[in-house]
Amino acid sequence: MENKSKLYEGKNNIFDYIIIGNSAAGLSAASSIRTIDKNGSIVVLTNENYLNYSKPLITYYLAGRIKLKDIYFKNEDFYKENNILLKKDTNILKIDYANKQVITDKNTGFAYRKLLLANGGIPIIPKIRVSESSDSPSINSERFKEHAENNADVNKNKSIPGSLDNSNFKNFTGIFTFTCLKDAEKVKDYITKNNITEAAVLGGGLIGLKSAEALLELGIKVKIIELSDRILSASFDKQASSIIENELENKGNRIYTQNTINQIFVKNGSLESFQLKSGEIIKSRLLIVAVGVIPDLSIAENSNNNIKKNEPGYLKLNRGILVDEHMQTSIKDVFAAGDVAESFNFVTGDKSNIAIWPLAVRQGDIAGANMAGGNKIYDGGYFMNSVEILNIPTISIGITNAPDDMEGNIEIMKDYKPEKRYYRKIVIHNNKIIGIILVENIDRAGIYNGLIRNKIDISNIKDNLVKEDFGIIQLPSDYKKHLVVGDGIEV
Ligand SMILES: Cc1cc2nc3c(=O)[nH]c(=O)nc-3n(C[C@H](O)[C@H](O)[C@H](O)COP(=O)(O)OP(=O)(O)OC[C@H]3O[C@@H](n4cnc5c(N)ncnc54)[C@H](O)[C@@H]3O)c2cc1C
Repeated sequence: MENKSKLYEGKNNIFDYIIIGNSAAGLSAASSIRTIDKNGSIVVLTNENYLNYSKPLITYYLAGRIKLKDIYFKNEDFYKENNILLKKDTNILKIDYANKQVITDKNTGFAYRKLLLANGGIPIIPKIRVSESSDSPSINSERFKEHAENNADVNKNKSIPGSLDNSNFKNFTGIFTFTCLKDAEKVKDYITKNNITEAAVLGGGLIGLKSAEALLELGIKVKIIELSDRILSASFDKQASSIIENELENKGNRIYTQNTINQIFVKNGSLESFQLKSGEIIKSRLLIVAVGVIPDLSIAENSNNNIKKNEPGYLKLNRGILVDEHMQTSIKDVFAAGDVAESFNFVTGDKSNIAIWPLAVRQGDIAGANMAGGNKIYDGGYFMNSVEILNIPTISIGITNAPDDMEGNIEIMKDYKPEKRYYRKIVIHNNKIIGIILVENIDRAGIYNGLIRNKIDISNIKDNLVKEDFGIIQLPSDYKKHLVVGDGIEV
């Protein structure tokens, strides 16, 4: 690749470590590097304008449960004390691996010795037709035309001004994604300025439900539209979902399952209503699109452009950037961690992308250590999440819906008491727990997680597993010894 970009810090100023991404994986890596290399130069590049903050807390911020200042994990002092240069508002376009340079959208470059891609995920924007409301006079407005130009198919039909996609959805007023602090600020501002009392969320997964929860706390009635037959379908089963669904509907909200939005109606570019696949038209001035997040491969793909797949300069990708157990990519001195990476799944044994905060932190830590010359191994992760909806705490871990074609002996233990909003499900594979769902009583989650992580044979305690009082006392004694140690403790 020809090196035309201007070096940011001068040609001879090569950073020992460049990290793209100032979030869970990126900052964990920076901290990890510093524990090993006290002097090497570190620059963290981010296209956001914030210090490191908690993404899981952005819904709490929207709900008003926490203040903006409480969302930050790190303050300016952290960067200063650790001698980490933070470059905000710096959007990276591609990497020139041959010249070891990171290129920004302003065509400036940062040279590196070791590079970490920790640029996370991007929200999926489904292609939905957008039409100007029939009573709108603005059918020929400039904005209207601009939307039309974004979609050739749509241009064929003059009655459709455009369709929602990644490039244009930000132009529509009232339609938002919800994956970063900027999104939360925009939604908050829009709700306040427009006195919103009803809203819709497209997608009943983790981010959709967390957004809905925040809206509910603001006193806004919510309609959730979900393609599958239940909410939280990736991590819950029918019983667990139904507890939350009933609770949401009892509070005046609506859930439309096996449904989606076929068409959106706008007036002067502002959301007015939308039509469901089932035909129903719903008036709404606020729509949060939360149908999922995928690894952001834009930098990786731009950098692979014009390089053949079998050439050494080609970064190997699948759904995410492929990494080995050191979080090293297929390119020398280039590492990847967090939501952008695809790494070993401890429960399934495959490589997969598990987009959760603790794994991004762990992967960043391992990548950072190895970038600084250490030798840390990533032994894999698995899905784990905790959401509290309408004061019902829930936790799901690992494989909670075993696929029909899974080899081996699958056993499911359940305790379902819908009247108490209580549910406990344990998925067992060849006498080892591979997944759990807990609804309402989540006290023992850590114990179950330990059994999964340590692949403990539970054949002798199977009958106790779903009991409400299940605890350390029932664990196999060999394993208990690892948990309960200390003078005078008999295990
Ligand atoms: C609303 C919401 C709620 C969540 N709740 C939970 C939860 O309860 N529990 C849980 O475990 N996980 C939760 N998650 C998921 C969790 O936040 C992510 O798994 C985690 O943030 C991934 O961290 P990361 O560092 O890999 O990437 P990200 O957090 O996505 O950060 C990516 C970083 O890269 C930067 N970047 C991206 N592209 C560029 C570019 N081209 N140039 C420069 N910089 C770039 C971004 O600005 C950002 O700093 C939630 C996510 C969301 C959105």
